Amino acid sequence: MTYDPDNIFAKILRGELPCHKIYEDTDTFVFLDIMPRATGHMLVSPKTPCRNVLDASAEQLAACIMTTQKMAQLAMTAFAADGITLQQFNERPGGQEVFHLHFHILPRHAGVSLRPPGQMADQAQLKEHAEMLRALLAK
Ligand code: AMP
Repeated sequence: MTYDPDNIFAKILRGELPCHKIYEDTDTFVFLDIMPRATGHMLVSPKTPCRNVLDASAEQLAACIMTTQKMAQLAMTAFAADGITLQQFNERPGGQEVFHLHFHILPRHAGVSLRPPGQMADQAQLKEHAEMLRALLAK
């Protein structure tokens, strides 16, 4: 399986498509999922190309998991969450739809199920959440 440089997240990383950005560092980039399965659903990707954990380097994986922890801790505070679900899918039979490595961060509240996949969020609400998360990070 080869990496397709025209996948949608590669275009977001190159700034060719818009996103609700939360955070970036040298190695990773974080933005909101446009079809959130929980309020505050974020995606963490490496800035450099790889399809998923099967072809990622140790450096890409390490950078992503450190950023994932930072964003999970942020989400706990930002959304007064009771817990966090992490998801990560590999290749189409494994549930992957976008073939640039990403980790899903899903803030969870006791007794609240994940929403079904494929439901577009209200863009104004995503914008508001992104601004709130960036403001918390800037503190
Ligand atoms: P998967 O590859 O199965 O881990 O899922 C890809 C995820 O990317 C899904 O949760 C989609 O809602 C999300 N997604 C697809 N296109 C975009 C986009 N342009 N911006 C943000 N999230 C997206």
